[in-house]
Amino acid sequence: MISFSSFQMREELTQAISDLGFETPTPIQQKVLPQLLSEPIDIIGLAQTGTGKTAAYGLPLLHHVDLNLRHVQCLVLSPTRELCMQIQEEMSKYGCHMRGLRIAAVYGGVPISGQLRDARANPQIVVATPGRLIDLLERKALSLDHLQYVVLDEADEMLNMGFREDIELILKNTPEREHTWLFSATMSNEVRGIAKRFMKEWQEFSVGAANVTNANIDHQYFVTNHHNRFETLRRLLDFAPGIYGIIFTRTKQDAQEVSEKLMKMGYHVSPLHGDMDQKMRTKVMERFKSRQLQAIVATDVAARGIDVNDITHVINYELPDDPEVYTHRSGRTARAGKSGICMSIVSPKQISNIRQIEKLVKQRFNKSDIPDGADVVRKRIVFYMDQIANAAPQPDFAKLYHDSIHEQFADMDKDELIRRLIWLQLKETIDAYQDSEDLNAGFENKLKDRNHDSMHDRSGRTVRIFINIGEKDGLTTGKLVGFITESTDVEANIIERVTVRELSSYFNVPGDAAEYIIEHLSSKKFKSRKVRLEIAEQRSGGGGGDFRGPREDRPRAGSENRPRPQSSRFTGDIRSYGNREGGYKGKRK
Ligand code: AMP
Repeated sequence: MISFSSFQMREELTQAISDLGFETPTPIQQKVLPQLLSEPIDIIGLAQTGTGKTAAYGLPLLHHVDLNLRHVQCLVLSPTRELCMQIQEEMSKYGCHMRGLRIAAVYGGVPISGQLRDARANPQIVVATPGRLIDLLERKALSLDHLQYVVLDEADEMLNMGFREDIELILKNTPEREHTWLFSATMSNEVRGIAKRFMKEWQEFSVGAANVTNANIDHQYFVTNHHNRFETLRRLLDFAPGIYGIIFTRTKQDAQEVSEKLMKMGYHVSPLHGDMDQKMRTKVMERFKSRQLQAIVATDVAARGIDVNDITHVINYELPDDPEVYTHRSGRTARAGKSGICMSIVSPKQISNIRQIEKLVKQRFNKSDIPDGADVVRKRIVFYMDQIANAAPQPDFAKLYHDSIHEQFADMDKDELIRRLIWLQLKETIDAYQDSEDLNAGFENKLKDRNHDSMHDRSGRTVRIFINIGEKDGLTTGKLVGFITESTDVEANIIERVTVRELSSYFNVPGDAAEYIIEHLSSKKFKSRKVRLEIAEQRSGGGGGDFRGPREDRPRAGSENRPRPQSSRFTGDIRSYGNREGGYKGKRK
């Protein structure tokens, strides 16, 4: 295993890496750093955001820069202002011990005056979006005459955004450029075209095959009719109480509308799109990073360069037109070795688009069940109970009130107290999901329509199976499907409508496969826990696709003897009913 100490780097950089606590170089760094530090050549690095690529080019730039020279030696071009700011921030951390180092970041969307000052202060390194850079060059605030190194970061995205001519103009005006380093998540013909025109013989380094998304991502899709899209989103959010995510829409208008609707309902979300001014976008990002927001509703362009490592969920409210864009979106989660979930809400017609994306990312997507009301309520009760179990209140905080609290509840039975607390906390959810409809699209019709569908036997019967393992066992939709297919020899495509709950899970299979699967799996263990399977109860009169689990696993959504509802507040959750202060309040101008 290569370590940072094996690289020949300036002492100040080694020190900064150690301060930052980086222990081992990431795969792209392992490949690129030895070459670029010792003997720079032109390179193409195929790597996505989150792979550590900023350090892969940033450390060599900082290593080679001459701090005694007062002109621009290195230029990093990037597609968005957010990314520019992050690159500057990241490189400043690496170069924090280098005295005399100046890194300027110049990008559009903010007044140019401050950047004019920064540009004239003789930075050795400039990080820029192409348009603003050209503006500064035209104003003669910057000169690229002595530029030696150019990095094109997220080159595919810059080209997608229409920066080709700007990039060409900039590269043509760099007479002393010695090396060009191009980083891109994907290798399109256009990217190759730029390389051919402006780079010397280059070497290619890639981490994983290009276009392949992170293997730690559980790709799930939920099929619903178009008019149920928003309701499905809501349900998925309610079903993921600890979510820290990005919801992608196709247009700025959708981002704004979806976000406003969610905010009105009390969710802690905010839009992020190009119609918002820079100040507002920066504010949104600050609130997102400090976890005041649990999700942002963003367009692809605005979300580029969001550098947040702990995103738990990416939700595609609409699939992107271009499958490659899907890889950019899903790559926002499962970064820095973590795992993540990418959920897509699709209409029945869009299932073919899912198949296309599956081919591109070379991973099977799991068709998951849109949870029903009881599932949501159950999930939130468990989440709340976990929060209570893990709370660490200050020892003395209730001293003042201890006697009066004690007196008031002295005669109340503990179970009743718990019941009331849960009720107060979750009554809106319980009410909202009282008689909620099944949002899964046309399941019954589909059963009738498909002649050769693998999902059912000759009688068209589909069977829902209960299994006694769930999230608490580290199960995810993908892991459950993997467990079933590896333990039996059934094909993954016969498993549908997977629902993973805390302690148990459900899935549908064709009637004639059910018995075989139950028999083969029942002797198996999942992480040392013996699994148990049984056919789940089918709700009478509910139609072919509407199933419920074994009765004892189903909490009642509400109670006949409800106490009088009062407003509740639960800030650990994405929704904080009756309290919108944490949510985004400002309306877009
Ligand atoms: P990037 O792909 O450059 O956006 O980097 C993603 C994140 O990984 C950033 O927050 C970096 O600070 C972090 N990072 C980069 N290299 C390493 C490393 N070798 N070890 C740990 N974290 C790293």
